[in-house]
Amino acid sequence: MNAIGINQGSSGNVSVRKASGYLITPSGMPYDECSAKDMVSMTLKGKSDGLLKPSSEWRFHQDIYRCREDVKAIVHVHSTFATTIACLGRELPSFHYMVAAAGGKTIRCADYHTFGTQELSDAVINAMQDRKACLMANHGMLATGSTLKKALAMAIEVENLCEVYWRLLPLGGGNMVDDAEMDLILEKFKSYGQFTE
Ligand code: 13P
Ligand code: ZN
Repeated sequence: MNAIGINQGSSGNVSVRKASGYLITPSGMPYDECSAKDMVSMTLKGKSDGLLKPSSEWRFHQDIYRCREDVKAIVHVHSTFATTIACLGRELPSFHYMVAAAGGKTIRCADYHTFGTQELSDAVINAMQDRKACLMANHGMLATGSTLKKALAMAIEVENLCEVYWRLLPLGGGNMVDDAEMDLILEKFKSYGQFTE
C-alpha cells in the first residue's frame, strides 16, 4: 500500500476474516515496520489476542463482518484524492460508469464522527448499505472485497475515481451517466471478469 502511494505513515488499517473472527493491523504502527506476527487476532465480540493493541478502528471492521457475509477483507486508507472529496462531504455521483463497481449508482460519504468510535462505525454501516466502498467525511475511505487483493483493488479504483472527480469539480462536475444506463452497468457487473479469486 505504501509503494502504491495509497497510504501514508501509520494511517489506515487492514483486516481479513478468519474461520472465526478476523485479523487486523496493529494500532499506530507504520506498515513497513509490521510483519505477519504483529497482526492482531480479534473475535466478533471485541476481544483481542496477543500483546499488540488492535487498530483503533476495530469497531467498524467488526461491525462490517457482523452484518456483511459477503465481505472477507477490508482496507481503510487516508489516500489523497478520496480524502479530498471526503473533506468536501461529497458523495461520488454517476459521473463515470465505474462508480457502479462499488455496487450502486453513487459511492456514499459517511458522516463525520471521531475516529475509533461506535458512532463512526454506525455511520460507516449506513453508507455501506449495498456497497463495497464508501468515503468517510473529513477522514478517508474504506473498501471491501471477497479477498484482500480485491479489497485493495477496490480501494485503488475508488482513489482513481476520486482523482478524476476532483479534476472535474472546478469544470462543473462532468456529465452524468443516466439512471437507466447505470442500471444496465450494475447488471453487467454481476457477470463481468473472471470467476477466479
Ligand atoms: P490505527 O493506526 O489505530 O489503525 O488508526 C489509523 C486510522 O486510520 C484511524 O482512522
Ligand atoms: Zn483512518
